[in-house]
Amino acid sequence: MKKYKSLQSTNLKIQNYITILSMIREKVMSRAEIANVVGMSRPAVSSIIKELIDEGLVKEIGHGETSEVGGKRPILLDIDERAGNILSVYYDGAVLQMAICNLKADILVQEQVDLPVTTDEEAILDKISEYLNAFVKAESEARIIACGFVMKGIVNTITSTLQYSVALPEWENVSIGKVLEKQLQIPVFIENDARAQTLDLLKQEQNHYNTFVSVKVDTGIGTGVALDNQLYRGAFEGAVNFAHTTVHDEGPLCICGNYGCWEALASTTALLHKVETVTKEKGLSIQDIILRYNKGEAGIRDIVNNYTAYWIGVGLANIARVFQPEKIVLLSVLNAFQAPFRENVKEIYNRKSSPAFNRSLIAFEEVDDNLQLRSAAEVVCSYFYSADFHEGIWRNNDYSSMKEG
Ligand SMILES: [Zn+2]
Repeated sequence: MKKYKSLQSTNLKIQNYITILSMIREKVMSRAEIANVVGMSRPAVSSIIKELIDEGLVKEIGHGETSEVGGKRPILLDIDERAGNILSVYYDGAVLQMAICNLKADILVQEQVDLPVTTDEEAILDKISEYLNAFVKAESEARIIACGFVMKGIVNTITSTLQYSVALPEWENVSIGKVLEKQLQIPVFIENDARAQTLDLLKQEQNHYNTFVSVKVDTGIGTGVALDNQLYRGAFEGAVNFAHTTVHDEGPLCICGNYGCWEALASTTALLHKVETVTKEKGLSIQDIILRYNKGEAGIRDIVNNYTAYWIGVGLANIARVFQPEKIVLLSVLNAFQAPFRENVKEIYNRKSSPAFNRSLIAFEEVDDNLQLRSAAEVVCSYFYSADFHEGIWRNNDYSSMKEG
């Protein structure tokens, strides 16, 4: 890995161009405002804006208010929606979700189809391409710039390969990205779902927090880490996989084959299993448990407060000790439990960490239905709004070799 990149003037130019493009993506702005924020001269900003308008990426959208000192009303700039759209996809082995998003990662239209996974990966990928091509043809007038494809499992973003996924058990080292690139004829960026949602959070948090961890507790557990505003993928693309760290040697058997993984104790699957074992009931859903907890049923409250909340708190304390993040975002359907669920999680987190490590803000957020598709679009944005990848994607050069280079 090269320690220093050469600071050629072309690098600086593309860097400035991307900085300004990213600012306009976040907020409608005038040339003067941009010059003010980035500390560049007005003529230098105007020259980059001219280039962005000529490229079809940015457009003028009318006049803003005059400043307090008066003068002409400034012309406001926005991303030109005619430039193109993003195809975002989430596949969990049962349902294929797809959406057309704009270059700000807003969902414009979405659809989903049932597509149960089989061991014949070639046939499933053919089917996926077929659905995606038909969807794009019907729903997007603008050019599709790239596709973001999100799934559970160990994903190597450099080689565009799914290494392994519990959701697709027979698939190992499948070059999903390359196959789909060939069939869709656009750049395809694949990503693990937890890391993709961390990119989504990075966009929301960037002006407030630089180092944070997102934890999604669902039927499994997904974790993603942003260090100093950068998504962390580890040296071998597998980070961060807290779900399968052992937290209790004598704990239950995990889907991965080990005993006592965090996921085997703190996931909704673990909660359901625990409740069914204790109550001897069968076929319960997590919504049943939430309803009964919130109605105050003592047995259910005991399990949720002293088992699930306990193990979630233990895992969060471990995460805090490793990364010392400013914030841990807990995304979960379990956040629908009324008090004292959250208080119990926090109490265990405080008890199991120490004053040096329990300063992270714990934010409890319920999962919204569009999270996966928005995150998949955000994956594309993370490349599109980057100096290293922008040209390859936008001008449609050889983006695959860029990823590996
Ligand atoms: Zn495990």
